[in-house]
Amino acid sequence: MTKEPDSPPAIPCPECQAGLMRLRYLTYFTWLGDELITVPDFPAWVCDVCGRREYDQRALGWLSTLLNPTAGRPASRRRGQPPARPKRDGTRPSPK
Ligand SMILES: [Zn+2]
Repeated sequence: MTKEPDSPPAIPCPECQAGLMRLRYLTYFTWLGDELITVPDFPAWVCDVCGRREYDQRALGWLSTLLNPTAGRPASRRRGQPPARPKRDGTRPSPK
């Protein structure tokens, strides 16, 4: 019942409830101290209707492991428009 497919092709969008979020590869930005880190081809889920973006949780976990300990914060501590930030809803990937 709680069986999760390893990589679902699309998930229903929680924002508009009409679209499907599909896996795309975008450039992810994050600050590491004073340095802006860009990660090309970062997996993210993008809604085909409202354009909502959510970076892939597993990839975020992987990235924060690489960039410890500063990583894990959204890159929004500067002026200007913050990039779409991953929603923190308490769900965490469970790496084994
Ligand atoms: Zn949507």
